[in-house]
Amino acid sequence: MSALVRRAEEAAERILRAESRGLNAVLAFDREVLLGQARTVAGREAELPLAGMTVAVKDNIATVEYPTTCASRILEGYRSPYQATAVRKLKEAGALIACKTNLDEFAMGSSTEHSAFGRTLHPLDPERVPGGSSGGSAALVAAGAVDAALGSETGGSVRQPAAFCGVVGIKPTYGRVSRYGLVAFGSSLDQIGVLARDVNTAARVLSVISGPDERDFTSAPIDPVRVPPACEHLSGIKVGIPEEYLPPDLDPAIRRGVERARRLLEEARAVVKEISLPHTPLAVPAYYIIAPAEASSNLARYDGVRYGRRIEGDKLDVGELFRRTRGRGFGAEVRRRIIVGTYVLSAGYYEAYYRRAVAARSAIARDFANAFDPSRGGVDLILAPTTPTTAFKAGEKLDDPVSMYLADVFVCPANLANVPAISLPIGRDQGLPVGIQLIGPQFSEERLLQAASVLERLADPEEELR
Ligand code: GLN
Repeated sequence: MSALVRRAEEAAERILRAESRGLNAVLAFDREVLLGQARTVAGREAELPLAGMTVAVKDNIATVEYPTTCASRILEGYRSPYQATAVRKLKEAGALIACKTNLDEFAMGSSTEHSAFGRTLHPLDPERVPGGSSGGSAALVAAGAVDAALGSETGGSVRQPAAFCGVVGIKPTYGRVSRYGLVAFGSSLDQIGVLARDVNTAARVLSVISGPDERDFTSAPIDPVRVPPACEHLSGIKVGIPEEYLPPDLDPAIRRGVERARRLLEEARAVVKEISLPHTPLAVPAYYIIAPAEASSNLARYDGVRYGRRIEGDKLDVGELFRRTRGRGFGAEVRRRIIVGTYVLSAGYYEAYYRRAVAARSAIARDFANAFDPSRGGVDLILAPTTPTTAFKAGEKLDDPVSMYLADVFVCPANLANVPAISLPIGRDQGLPVGIQLIGPQFSEERLLQAASVLERLADPEEELR
């Protein structure tokens, strides 16, 4: 048997072992499907850049091999007739689609507790959440079951779980990776991202899935990301730390994570200085208006007629059919978003909420553009914490949506500004991973990856932060 097929068998064992421990990171897996792909790729290692790499796929990304449920009852058992572009490109590059991973229903959430199929456990502490919404992808990578995973971000759903689980997570610039086959949540924000145990693996996956796609009219006409060559130091690179991301009441361990990253960047000869992104406080409120507004429109298609499992009944008129299908098919958080989104778009409230949120979004985007503007002595990269705390306990924020939303305070600005960002583990606090993020100007993924790999080489992510 070829070494590649043997490695795929080992990956299958690891996935099954993680799941038998109750991780619940996986929504669909079939050993034979994985081994079948391995046998097709075996022998072509020399020509395929990702030959044999096992990649798990978040279950809001369409795959032909497995159902695509978005962790929702309404799509239970749904099989996409087509492959997402990112998945197709991965397979063409020789990667093996290992399984589909758990998420907050329709990617709405920050803990993977809003899955209709049960919560995913944090791989290091079963009482805690892995983050979300790409929690299954992050947990599975952290558990060492797969080489990498696809996730999606609308407002931080790759970076936040990556930070909680102690893995690398990159959200590319909006438009860098085709959204074709990514189930729409907030279409002006949605972007496929990558989770992996190290920066190089994330870069290799991103280099394959990025690039223009005629099937997604918002995909940017820009060449795919190249895997950047290793670099020794960061001399000449200017890094800014926004004061708004280090509020006085920030968890001290998270602050120590940023300080450690700062020291390591300086050791690598980068110049680090304080900057300001003054509209940061508007990000969470703006995000939680814009994302639900777009979701309320995108999710209108799940009515039991066009899409979604229909709830039948005797002599239902069409209104009642829609009501039952949507009332039973969607979970509480999804229903909340639809209601909020419909409200902020409705006559009389549109100006007060949606219009102002869009203006706030522009102000946030301008903050970043100014910070990166060379003619104003701007910086090349921004260093910031990824999350305000380490992984929280399951149930802790479930009944308090606003506190759950605030878990996104440091991640969602980059989504609103459509700029790329990468989170990587920097150390531990009482055994739990602490992540930091680097944010760059639009389409600066190569520089981000390069700086992240220098930081990765210098940091010991297992070390307690003191
Ligand atoms: N936590 C955010 C939300 O609930 C982000 C989700 C995402 O990025 N998909 O909307």
